[in-house]
Amino acid sequence: MRVDVSPDLLTRLDRPGPRYTSYPTVPAWTSDFGADQWRAALDALAAAPDRETSVYVHLPYCVRRCHYCGCNAAVPECRSDVDRYLDHLERELDLVCARIGRRRVSQMHWGGGTPNYQTDAQIRRTWQLLADRFELTGELSLECDPRAAKSEQPYLLRELGFNRISMGVQDFDPAVQEAIGRRQPEKVTRRWVDASRDAGFESVNLDLVYGLPHQTPEIFADSLARVLDLDPDRLAVFGYAHVPWAKPHQAAIDEAALPSGPERFALYQQAVETLTEAGYVWIGLDHFARPEDELAVALAERRLHRNFMGYSTRPTLDMLAFGNSAIGDVCDRFAQNTPLVDPYEQTVARGELPVVRGLELSAEDRMRRSVILHLMCNLELPWEVTRESWGATVPELIGGIEARLEPLAGEGLITLDQAGLHVTDLGRFFLRNVAMEFDAYLDDPEDDRPRYSRTV
Ligand code: SF4
Repeated sequence: MRVDVSPDLLTRLDRPGPRYTSYPTVPAWTSDFGADQWRAALDALAAAPDRETSVYVHLPYCVRRCHYCGCNAAVPECRSDVDRYLDHLERELDLVCARIGRRRVSQMHWGGGTPNYQTDAQIRRTWQLLADRFELTGELSLECDPRAAKSEQPYLLRELGFNRISMGVQDFDPAVQEAIGRRQPEKVTRRWVDASRDAGFESVNLDLVYGLPHQTPEIFADSLARVLDLDPDRLAVFGYAHVPWAKPHQAAIDEAALPSGPERFALYQQAVETLTEAGYVWIGLDHFARPEDELAVALAERRLHRNFMGYSTRPTLDMLAFGNSAIGDVCDRFAQNTPLVDPYEQTVARGELPVVRGLELSAEDRMRRSVILHLMCNLELPWEVTRESWGATVPELIGGIEARLEPLAGEGLITLDQAGLHVTDLGRFFLRNVAMEFDAYLDDPEDDRPRYSRTV
């Protein structure tokens, strides 16, 4: 899919914007929402034992910090830091599960950090902490760094019950890897992919990043070809978000070596073209899947969902989240745990839930969330989509929305008709810009804090 974008349009569309894993996004949350409010959310969940539930576990430790990292990661002083962290994770699990009881979980994901930085014994322990408290079913996935452990580890992960595995590649080029502080020989990644397949994982996902220092079309073409040779079931292609004001370690990246906005756009377009020509289905913002993969099937059947873990095939309503910085979504309340490991451990050691901010969604928040997530998943928005739950069409509920959307239609990003909105081929590259028109929290002219990565 090749689209032409004038430099002028690209400049106008290149602005900070959320990725809408949910709505309202974190900057709209408040520290007035804390442990008391989260306990009320957990009690509401306990009163609804049949609501589908997912679990996210944050495991923050990594071998070393990559310069480009945008995650909440930490480098431990020694391996025993992980044991201490797991002691506190256990305490947090007990605090939460004492209120909600043993629930059936249809999606679990371990993220980080590097979940497989743990030793085999620590991985077994973490799994058991969860298996003792939840009935684990459905998609059980984790992120792995092939550099962090020997390639026998996928067999252990599969034996425990994980069925999906995701690995970071970013770019195979040695100069790019050097510039981002992440040396990862191709043979190491290949060993892990081969072992994951041999161990019987249902789905192997690889992550790529565009917009990294020294990346050129030639370099990225080579990386894409190498990744395709590994034949992953799914790929995620993220844009590098250079936000050194929020992630000071990114100052180690040479800004002069970063691709410009138009160059970034060309790299993204190159990824879309290469992967779709190779037979992958482009899903939502930044995912690609084999047509037979569950994610692509869910898209075709209009069952795709989006939550804090990204795109999902499960219509999961609630997400419990454990560990420092983890974000939960329960009974229309969002909550985030304290970001740093030490305060997280100190808080749970006192027997308190480590929530530092959150939000109880208003009726309007919930309506706008349903609209934005429908758009982010399906690339269209029938005006009637809100009728069943909200008793009116989208334009009736969001006054003036059609006038707001007209300029995007004029730029060719969407088409509008009486039935609703459709994202064009061009608009697919600017899905965040389209979704931003439905966001009620972006309009504060007083607020010019840099809070989001740029959309191009
Ligand atoms: S391995 Fe991942 S989480 Fe850890 S520092 Fe590198 S990018 Fe961040």
